[in-house]
Amino acid sequence: MDRRTFLSASLGAIALAPFTPGVGAWMVAHTAHAAEGGGIPGRKDKVVRTEAQWREALSPDQFRILREQGTERAFTGPNWDNTADGYYLCAGCDLPLYDSRTKYKSGTGWPSFWDAIGTDHVAERDDSSWFMRRTELVCNRCGGHLGHVFSDGPPPTGRRHCINGHAMRFVPIAALAGKKLDLPKGYTRPGTPTQEPSR
Ligand SMILES: [Zn+2]
Repeated sequence: MDRRTFLSASLGAIALAPFTPGVGAWMVAHTAHAAEGGGIPGRKDKVVRTEAQWREALSPDQFRILREQGTERAFTGPNWDNTADGYYLCAGCDLPLYDSRTKYKSGTGWPSFWDAIGTDHVAERDDSSWFMRRTELVCNRCGGHLGHVFSDGPPPTGRRHCINGHAMRFVPIAALAGKKLDLPKGYTRPGTPTQEPSR
């Protein structure tokens, strides 16, 4: 990208800037290494596709966010105000990423969670784009960009996973009857009693 392209990309991106306390309008995630799909940590069941295959599989919004580290405008993406019970799966590879029981009302206009389903599902990596040090969240199976994590979340973790709605698809609990999700071994939904109540 030459300097002029870089500047026009920067200016164009301001309108898409996500909310972050104290940082203001410069919160833009749109850096070059996204489409490489590189740096996928961890899992053995990685999903690797070419750029052309991803374009085929994803909507333009999903591609821009997941594969190019884009950011949807606040209050415009899916599910920022969804309070239904269920799971949020990666829009790129269907790996379960978030449980609705960790979702909370952050007021930011993006789906916000105080924790991910597991570290083997949502990975963190340093993001120093746009002159900021932030922690990026990526799907641990396909490497898709999800959003960022901040330290102004509610208990019990104090963390705020700020996720693009287009990066996920929501599956209500009722739609899961009989289907098995790829959840961590022994996963217990938050708020579920660990023992059956005695009668
Ligand atoms: Zn994925």
